[in-house]
This record gives sequence, C-alpha cells and structure tokens, in this order.
Amino acid sequence: MDGKLYLCATPIGNLGDITARVLETLNTVDLIAAEDTRNSIHLLTHFGIKTPMTSYHEYNKVDKARTLIAKLHEGQNIALISDAGTPAISDPGEVLVKMCQEEGIVVTSLPGPAACITALTMSGLSTRRFCFEGFLPPDKKERRTILELLANETRTIIIYEAPHHLVKTLRELGEVLGDRKISICRELTKRFETVLPTTINTALDMYETEDPRGEYVLVIEGKDVLELQKEKQQSFDSMSIEEHMSMYEAQGIDRKEAMKMVAKDRGISKREVYDYLIK
Ligand code: SAM
Repeated sequence: MDGKLYLCATPIGNLGDITARVLETLNTVDLIAAEDTRNSIHLLTHFGIKTPMTSYHEYNKVDKARTLIAKLHEGQNIALISDAGTPAISDPGEVLVKMCQEEGIVVTSLPGPAACITALTMSGLSTRRFCFEGFLPPDKKERRTILELLANETRTIIIYEAPHHLVKTLRELGEVLGDRKISICRELTKRFETVLPTTINTALDMYETEDPRGEYVLVIEGKDVLELQKEKQQSFDSMSIEEHMSMYEAQGIDRKEAMKMVAKDRGISKREVYDYLIK
C-alpha cells in the first residue's frame, strides 16, 4: 500500500507554536523532507525528533519529488516541512503536492502557523474578503501586470516581501495603487514582533531613512467598491455605445451577450442599445 504525504506546518518564529499532531507525525513518519535541512535540524533537535531527514527545495523540486514519490509508492510515510510556516505556501511544496495527486498518493495537511493569516488577523484591515499574492514576481513586465491587476482589487491584499526589497516594493505599490492604508507586519511571533498600521507613502518615507530588518508581511487595504463602480461608470460614460460594444466583442463575447452587458453597464434596456445600433 502507498504511504501518505503529511504537510506539517512549523513555527514561523516561536517554537511554542508547534502543534501536538505535527510533533506526533514528525516522530512517526519514515522520512522528513525539509526545505532547508540545516535550519530544520534545530527544530528537530529541540523537540528530540530523530526521524531521518532529506532536502526538498526550489532547485530539486521536480527530480526530488520523483524520488519521494517512489518511496511513497513503496509504502513509506513522508512529512514535508518548509523553512517556516505552512508547506506549499510560497515554497516548492505545491509542486510535490500536485505530483503526488497525479500519482494517486494521499496528501493530508496538518494546519498550523502561516505568516499570511497571522498578519491578516492582526492587521486591523478587513478580514472578510482577502487575497494572497505571496511574493510579487521578479520579472519586470509580469510584476507590472500583477500590480495593475491589484490596483482594482477590492479585497484586502497580503504580500510577502524580503527586507532588502521592501522599499522598492512600497514605491511601486504607491505608484500603482495610490496612498492606501497598509499594515506592515514584522517578525511575527518573535521577540520584536511589530504591526505598523500606516499608509504606503508614510511607510516609504520611514523606510527610506531606516533600514528594514527582519521578515515582513504587507497587508494592504483593498480598493473601495463604490469608488471602483464610479470609475467604471465614468469610463463607460466616456465611450460611445459602439465603442462599448467593441470593447466586449474584442474579448470574444458574442454580439447578443455584449448588448446585454452594455445595457447593464449603462443602466439602460437591451432594446435601447439595439435601437441605437440599428440607427
Ligand atoms: N510557508 C511560509 C508561510 O506559511 O507563511 C512562507 C514562506 S515564504 C518562503 C517566507 C516569507 O514569509 C518571508 O519572506 C516573509 O514575507 C514571510 N514570513 C515568514 N515568517 C515570518 C514572520 N515570522 N514574520 C513576518 N513574515 C514572515
């Protein structure tokens, strides 16, 4: 019988946050696959765990996944741990999970710390609807596209960032999103944990004179829904009905559906759109 893959969340800064189920699993599986074995050895030593460990990281994520899957097919149970937090959240774990699913191997997740959720809950911003961006892509064009998409995002946005990129990211966020509310969550669960509720430009001023240090999660207020609706309305009003139809037809939407959408956007009936186009 195949073994099982256990995704084990580990502390993001405070060893007290490990769960009883994760400890039991790390003690009883046949093998632990760790993102950084040099880092995880401290965790395992602290809890007296003697299970063998192997590395599973960004640079061996496909080849090593094949090796791990072969072991799972032999019946071994494997635990996956990341550097910190929940495996598969902004780390190579997602590749292993996908490949295990394709192979029919059962994957289970043992919940625990995740920097994104910890930051969101203490951000003071709306937690009702949120989206997680992880790290913004390093590629310039892709990054710009994502930032532009985020400009109209109405949910609270969560972003991971390394300290040496923080100023650049804040600057770009300010340029594209405007001076929104932001909560800068730093060193979560650690001794110098801080949450700074501020705005993007104020944070930028601060970090341009003070070097960012430690680990950061940025939680940003989503765009106001009414403001977005108003902007959309204004852009529709500045178009002719033909231009408005072309906008949808260029997206591959058929003429009948486009007429429906144009009528809805402009708050008029389909008949009025039809009559206008006939004329
Ligand atoms: N898998 C992890 C999780 O569940 O949150 C995230 C891994 S990702 C490679 C590392 C990033 O998470 C860091 O660059 C930082 O943005 C964020 N992070 C991790 N631990 C943190 C902490 N204690 N305080 C603030 N941010 C943290």
